[in-house]
Amino acid sequence: MKLLPFDDLPAHSARGFVPVKIDPGDWKQIAPLFDTLETRANRCRTAADLERWLLDWSELSAVLDEEGSKRYIAMTCHTDDADAEKAYLDFVERIEPPLKPRQFKLEQIYLQHAARGKLPKDRYEVFHRNTGVHVELYREENVPLETEEARLSQRYQKLAGSLTVRFRGEEKTLAQMARYLEEPDRALRQEAWDLVANRRLQEAENFEDLFDQLVKLRGQIAQNAGFANYRDYAFRAKCRFDYRPEDCLKFHEAIECEILPVVRALQTERRQLLKLDRLRPWDLAVDPMNRPPLRPFEQAGKMVAATQKIFDQLDKELAGGFKTMQDRRLLDLDNRKGKAPGGYQSTLAEARLPFIFMNAVGVQRDVETILHEAGHAFHALWTRDEDLYAYRHAPIEFCEVASMSMELLGHEFLETFYPPPDAKRARRTHLEGIVSFFPWMATVDAFQHWIYTHPGHTRAERTAAWLALMDRFGDGVDWGSCERACANLWHRQLHIFLHPFYYVEYGIAQLGALQVWANAKLDKARALADYKRALALGGSRRLPELFSTAGCRFDFSVETVKPLVALVRHELAKLN
Ligand SMILES: [Zn+2]
Repeated sequence: MKLLPFDDLPAHSARGFVPVKIDPGDWKQIAPLFDTLETRANRCRTAADLERWLLDWSELSAVLDEEGSKRYIAMTCHTDDADAEKAYLDFVERIEPPLKPRQFKLEQIYLQHAARGKLPKDRYEVFHRNTGVHVELYREENVPLETEEARLSQRYQKLAGSLTVRFRGEEKTLAQMARYLEEPDRALRQEAWDLVANRRLQEAENFEDLFDQLVKLRGQIAQNAGFANYRDYAFRAKCRFDYRPEDCLKFHEAIECEILPVVRALQTERRQLLKLDRLRPWDLAVDPMNRPPLRPFEQAGKMVAATQKIFDQLDKELAGGFKTMQDRRLLDLDNRKGKAPGGYQSTLAEARLPFIFMNAVGVQRDVETILHEAGHAFHALWTRDEDLYAYRHAPIEFCEVASMSMELLGHEFLETFYPPPDAKRARRTHLEGIVSFFPWMATVDAFQHWIYTHPGHTRAERTAAWLALMDRFGDGVDWGSCERACANLWHRQLHIFLHPFYYVEYGIAQLGALQVWANAKLDKARALADYKRALALGGSRRLPELFSTAGCRFDFSVETVKPLVALVRHELAKLN
């Protein structure tokens, strides 16, 4: 049975180290290759020897990475296929655990290698720095704690994913309930919102229990690694060399001063258009003119064709990249039974080709998602010529510039999906979504700064800290009579549970994307050329250089934020 949507993909380059006929799912065949790399390191004398060794290690990493990706893709495209699930779990349970210590050993060998000093400094600066962090933070005693953290995270996902409500006689998941918030009938919206909020509140104690355990565990992990608190540990572990916690706090202030007033004005406008005295939490997703939801396409095939037309108008090379993905069937986009939820872009590391997975159902959000994931895919395509595996991935703050820029640059051509008035409405929805995301991002990020710098806090103190932030970044929505839901709103933000401190990146990247968009308004050809040059750097340069190559400042103070907000306001005014 054929489980992958694409045929066999040719490797980007012929293998020089890993045997062609090896089974990457069999650890017995993989382990000897690590043995070889360990012993061969002793024989590297020159910079050229060591570079060859690094490339062979890269080749092995890419083969294993691609095998894991293929099994993940097969499983998510066929959740009802027991063999696909088993193949994926086999890889996670039998390959990944023995792999980690072997990769770590090679990192140690590299750092201590006598020939390392002979390598070109500029070229290996970032690789050396990041490898140093892995080795520096590694603690034997943290391994079981991290396993426990993963177990608790999985319990959160299971709990959050299992919640359902009975709505008008039918059982619905919370995700399925979201569409009722777009209904013009206000009583219906409130009924749907109340049901979901109350279902979550029934689990509030469970979410709090889980989170207490996670915070304690993370504090211990940080302490074992020699850090005063988990925040400082997390910044180091995420290789945040180019900004500090204080920069994030300044970013929150910039959002409060520059963006929040715009969001509040938009909400006031929404309230007036809806002819309401108070804007309630269930009034935020409906069209303010009470028009039915936008319907950009019926089938995924139409979405692909219209997206191709957008890239055809935007840039020939990007259009060619998207065409290649279609020709090689590297897209699985339609929603159908037996597919995992959500969407992602995955890179087949040996073929050096991207794959996009989605569950398109024909809403405006799908249009934003395909443009976003295409941006990630272009990143993978533009780093194909990089031979060092570690440099084919950029830091997340810049990966999201690649994707969010495409949303903004692509949205100028939404007429490929809509008649002109609807295209205008879609652009407006998109821009409003961008500005209103910032205060929420700041709330989530500031909350985590508070949590991990207040060890031993009580639940009551934590709730008070959250409510203070909801107040500080509140956009004028009236939470009266829903105070408990407001106090527990963070329970639904998965990042707080699963990926601590991973959220500010979206804000940083959005500033980059808005700058690329602003540049394109002045000189489109140049902005796109800079964008592609920056993508091609992959992860080989530091963040400020990736940003500057793309024509952006790596800075999130008022100075950067202010003109971008002015541009968005100006564009929004044109769309009225
Ligand atoms: Zn993304």
